[in-house]
Amino acid sequence: MSESLVVIGNGMAATRFVDELMQRSLGRYSVIVIGAESRLSYNRVLLSSLLAGEVGEAAIELKPRGWWNGRGVTTVDGQAVVSIDRRNQSVTLANGLCFGFSKLVLATGSQPVRLPKPGMDLQNVLTFRDLTDVAAMRRLMRKGARAAVIGGGLLGLEAAYGLAKAGVKVTLVHLMDRLMERQLDHRAAALLKTAIEAKGVEILLDTDTKRVSGKDHVTGLELSRGRSIPADFVVCAVGIRPQAQLARDAGLAVNRGIVVDDGLTTSDPNIFALGECTEHRSNVYGLVEPAYEQAKILARRLSGDHSALFAGSTLATNLKVSGVIVFGGAIYGKPFERCPPIRGRGRWCL
Ligand SMILES: Cc1cc2nc3c(=O)[nH]c(=O)nc-3n(C[C@H](O)[C@H](O)[C@H](O)COP(=O)(O)OP(=O)(O)OC[C@H]3O[C@@H](n4cnc5c(N)ncnc54)[C@H](O)[C@@H]3O)c2cc1C
Repeated sequence: MSESLVVIGNGMAATRFVDELMQRSLGRYSVIVIGAESRLSYNRVLLSSLLAGEVGEAAIELKPRGWWNGRGVTTVDGQAVVSIDRRNQSVTLANGLCFGFSKLVLATGSQPVRLPKPGMDLQNVLTFRDLTDVAAMRRLMRKGARAAVIGGGLLGLEAAYGLAKAGVKVTLVHLMDRLMERQLDHRAAALLKTAIEAKGVEILLDTDTKRVSGKDHVTGLELSRGRSIPADFVVCAVGIRPQAQLARDAGLAVNRGIVVDDGLTTSDPNIFALGECTEHRSNVYGLVEPAYEQAKILARRLSGDHSALFAGSTLATNLKVSGVIVFGGAIYGKPFERCPPIRGRGRWCL
């Protein structure tokens, strides 16, 4: 009889893991994938392109329903796992259903951080993490609407670009003295600022957010130095944090993320973790490539190849703003004649 393997989270890491596992060990495990989002897994990286109207929703699906069915994988959508019982080796879902496991894989990803400032709980203060967020922005992004985007990292810039492209009047507010300060030096950041402004986004650097103003709904942002800007909605893109509470509640070792060793095993030998929810050798990755590398290694290990080990990953990413390409160590794009170097770590995690 096949062993029961439960995967919590149906995001990019989980999907790649199941794919890799099925290529090696079809039939060895009876696999159940439980996802909190009410749909099959999709390419989260393409949410920016979806917002900018450059791809349609159908294009971002990772695997069609038939792919999962064809491999005998049970998917449960729209249900969060609310607890893990390690002693009895079972998980409980929000609807009360329970599933037993002999092996458990946590792939719960990250959650967007909201600034701890007054007004952040008002209606129309949004984040940029999933399809629901994109749907909310799309409902509000009519021509002439005003939006404030907080955060001048990759996500903030991509959100601002997508909104501006739809005719929204966008002001991007950034605490630091340059955009993407973790990745870019001053010269590169200044070039990027010019390029983004050319897309119709107003950029305020060195500016802190004091509060979101409005009673029931957003009317604007109050900023440092007595300044304020009007806004019909706000997008908070100030960073992400590993979704590790479930693991913490189950008594697994958790620092910033769920602690895993080179075999992607947590502090419980029957429980594994991969993707953005993990912390490996003190690193928390906020990018998809390390998650994909982990997915392959874990699939190999659970298929019996114990020589497979994760030793860490390189970090490279690109900014998805058409005509402005920031990738790995250089900026390329129409506004620039040269490719200034990018200094830094390429990581966009808090
Ligand atoms: C707009 C945007 C643009 C991006 N662009 C890039 C890019 O250009 N390059 C790059 O490398 N990365 C990019 N990323 C990051 C990339 O999407 C992530 O690195 C990747 O999705 C991580 O995969 P994951 O499976 O670990 O997490 P996720 O894809 O977030 O999947 C985790 C899933 O687990 C679910 N979940 C959480 N808790 C539970 C629970 N208790 N029960 C059931 N389900 C649960 C969540 O709902 C989610 O669906 C971008 C992200 C965003 C939001």
